[in-house]
Amino acid sequence: MVMVSFNVIICGGGLGGLACAIGLKKKGHNVTVLEASSTLSEVGAGIQVPPNSVKILKEYGIFDKFEKLVTRPKNIILRRYDTGAPLSTTPLDPDMTETYGNPYLLIHRADYQRFLLEAATELGITYKTGCRVKEVDPETATVHLESGESYTGDVVVGADGIRSKVRDTAVVTEEVVSPLPSSNCAFRATVPKEEMLSDPVIAHLMTDVNSNCWIGYRRHVMAYPIRNGEMYNIVMSHPGQASVGKWNEPGDVNEMRNHYKTFDPVVRQLLTHVKSVLKWVLADLPKLPRWVSKSGKVVLIGDAAHAMLPYLAQGAAQAIEDGATLAEELDKITSVSEIPTALLSYQKLRKRRPETIQAGARKNGDIWHLPDGEEQEERDALMNARDGHNPDQWSDREFQQWLFGWDAFTSTYPKA
Ligand SMILES: Cc1cc2nc3c(=O)[nH]c(=O)nc-3n(C[C@H](O)[C@H](O)[C@H](O)COP(=O)(O)OP(=O)(O)OC[C@H]3O[C@@H](n4cnc5c(N)ncnc54)[C@H](O)[C@@H]3O)c2cc1C
Repeated sequence: MVMVSFNVIICGGGLGGLACAIGLKKKGHNVTVLEASSTLSEVGAGIQVPPNSVKILKEYGIFDKFEKLVTRPKNIILRRYDTGAPLSTTPLDPDMTETYGNPYLLIHRADYQRFLLEAATELGITYKTGCRVKEVDPETATVHLESGESYTGDVVVGADGIRSKVRDTAVVTEEVVSPLPSSNCAFRATVPKEEMLSDPVIAHLMTDVNSNCWIGYRRHVMAYPIRNGEMYNIVMSHPGQASVGKWNEPGDVNEMRNHYKTFDPVVRQLLTHVKSVLKWVLADLPKLPRWVSKSGKVVLIGDAAHAMLPYLAQGAAQAIEDGATLAEELDKITSVSEIPTALLSYQKLRKRRPETIQAGARKNGDIWHLPDGEEQEERDALMNARDGHNPDQWSDREFQQWLFGWDAFTSTYPKA
């Protein structure tokens, strides 16, 4: 129950900012989202939605609409890059629901964003596009836009991604926090359902619904159907460089195919159907000294606070968890003067979890990208063993429980 309604300004209307807006609006706050882009991004790429974020969508009461847009994979299958032989299979549907109470889903990023925007605007949040944040004054909680306009609230949320202006101008001001580009880039592409089904070598990828991931030296291909089976999504991680934070640089299709010339014939056949690719560098952030400004009025969520490599598919999920916990902590106070206490409490409850996942994602990348040899053979034997510790953290029972079992509203693990 809301005792007081705060004016909250969220900088950045990506997945994290929009979900946070929904969480705060449902608690009765006045929410304005300032988004730099003038239109909703239609970047053609899939995203995995793990049980820990499905839980939040359900709690917000918006899951039913969302469910119509998703695909439910049966398993995540890690495969040897050159033969396609399965190395490790993580059962997803119905196992995730049985174990964690919520399913593991796949969705088109643009559908996810559109759905969250619709839900947020139906609830009555104000969403302003073409509002590029230049800087934030942490003392007055005032957001200054490049256009010259300003907005002042009781609290400012920085949800403006890996190159956050909110972080750099109001939260961590003593040094420039540069994103850490990894040595890998990702190509992203989609193939329409009809084209997939017309080719007998790859049709099974569409009809036998799984997340497949072929792992090899410094490269992998992660692929799965999205948009309720309307298209096939392919993410191809490989050594290379692109601009940090740019999600839509065109890539070279021949270069892309060349990167995977030693891969499973099924992958190579799949890639013959790719007409164009986008690429971006995979980068993360170092641990930040704080997520809350010294004034106690500005707070970071999502990639602005803890951008991570995608090797555990948790970046957006963690951004969504941040918003849920932030709304709970603000709900515990009754006056504007207590906002710094609520924000620090949010930081205390949250900071370590995404930072652990950041490190876990780096580690998973290293494990997936081993060269062939003794270490890779040991890894494969452990992955196949099925009991005990699995070097792929996604499949490791203990890590999985920690990752997917979290309740961001109570910041606890529900009792079994
Ligand atoms: C290849 C790849 C695959 C991934 N797969 C998954 C996955 O399967 N599952 C998962 O959970 N995560 C995944 N992620 C991570 C996920 O995409 C991010 O963690 C997530 O998008 C972060 O959301 P965000 O809202 O914090 O930031 P962003 O998505 O970066 O959104 C930031 C928003 O702020 C806006 N903005 C930026 N600067 C300004 C400014 N100055 N003023 C106003 N607005 C501004 C931007 O336009 C954008 O709308 C993947 C990432 C990559 C690179």
